[in-house]
Amino acid sequence: MAWSRRSFLLAAGAAASLPVRANGRAEELLADVVGHTLKPRPAGGLDIHHIATGRGDSTLISGPDGSSLMIDAGASYTASPPALALRPSTDRRPGEWIGRYARRRLNEVGSSELDVFLVTHQHPDHLGDVGPETPQAPGGAYRLTGVTDVDAIVPIRRLIDRGYPDYAAPVHSTAPFQANYEAFVRARHAAGRADERFRAGALNQLRRDGAAAFADFSIRNLAVNGEVWTGQGETARATFPSIAGLVAQDVPEENVWSAAFRLSYGDFDYFAAGDLTSSTFDGALPWRDVETAAARASGPVEVAVTPHHGMFDATGADMARALAPRTWIVPAWHAVHPSLSTLDRLFNPRLYPGPRDVFATGLDPATAAASPWLMDRLASRAGHVVVRVAPGGQSYRVVVTDNADEGDRVTAIFGPFVSAHSSWDAARPRQPQPAAASH
Ligand SMILES: [Zn+2]
Repeated sequence: MAWSRRSFLLAAGAAASLPVRANGRAEELLADVVGHTLKPRPAGGLDIHHIATGRGDSTLISGPDGSSLMIDAGASYTASPPALALRPSTDRRPGEWIGRYARRRLNEVGSSELDVFLVTHQHPDHLGDVGPETPQAPGGAYRLTGVTDVDAIVPIRRLIDRGYPDYAAPVHSTAPFQANYEAFVRARHAAGRADERFRAGALNQLRRDGAAAFADFSIRNLAVNGEVWTGQGETARATFPSIAGLVAQDVPEENVWSAAFRLSYGDFDYFAAGDLTSSTFDGALPWRDVETAAARASGPVEVAVTPHHGMFDATGADMARALAPRTWIVPAWHAVHPSLSTLDRLFNPRLYPGPRDVFATGLDPATAAASPWLMDRLASRAGHVVVRVAPGGQSYRVVVTDNADEGDRVTAIFGPFVSAHSSWDAARPRQPQPAAASH
């Protein structure tokens, strides 16, 4: 954590004593410069790219071991406005822009494939919508959108989602985008490609197969399908009641089944949870708040993504307290992202002490105009948000790049922030706390 005075001083010290690399160049010489192209990931560094197309979520993680993990490839076809304009332009589909972004990063490590792809849940702004204009893939088994567009550009070695192989829970959806995704999975299966279901509690299911190096780089699966990691080994507990016993209106919808995970590299921790929500319908259905349970299973982190795009029903107070991040990232693609209530909470110093920065991957002009007293406090409101963790994980920067074209031009740099956990943080248990406290 990097928000105490002590941590600030540590950050200042870190900036003054950047390690000298084997080739004799100080790391500072390799650091990004505003107006220049984003530098390649340094050896042993960890990059987390929040790709801003204005059409849904997509995150690319370039691990210190050279591995690649993509989470989601949204391609919402909601009209603009209220959705944001497609970036860089309407010349290509959102999934094509995402695939090309990934290809630029993979080229830097001499790879042409994504090691792992996680679909957090099955909504268009996370896996790709289907409309009359959506083209067929070569062979015609499915259409090209979102994740399938990405796979056509940078083939996905191992695909992980919350529903494989039957996609039956809570009910088998027949929505066109869902049917298209399942057709894609069937085609992969027929071709002998690897698909798996995300397992709550699993350690390193999301890491590249056979990756033995960088033991201090790990990814813990926190929650999926209403199951949450217990903190004991790889076990998980169910938080949902029997779905069969619920009246139809209480059956949780797709967002609440989202996959959540914590990535750790040395002292650096990162939390992401798809579209999990904290809403209990004002206390009526307390078990629906999987978001807080996942955050408590995680414990404090340096960087957190606001679940459900920072909407009013997510990033609850207890969840924010449990994570207490220095850096929040809002993956926005609609005029309701982020909601005023959520943004007000992110800035609330009474939830946890210390400064914090909030980065949005986009902001509708009307949203900015309606609430300048909050929106003007955003650290950035346009462009890809890249978290660049130094080799070993001791510190990180946040680099914003222009999404008006594919030049990856740096527009702003924040940090370095030190990942060392503060005394306040050290006093808190890193183990999960009982989720029942808020239920
Ligand atoms: Zn979403």
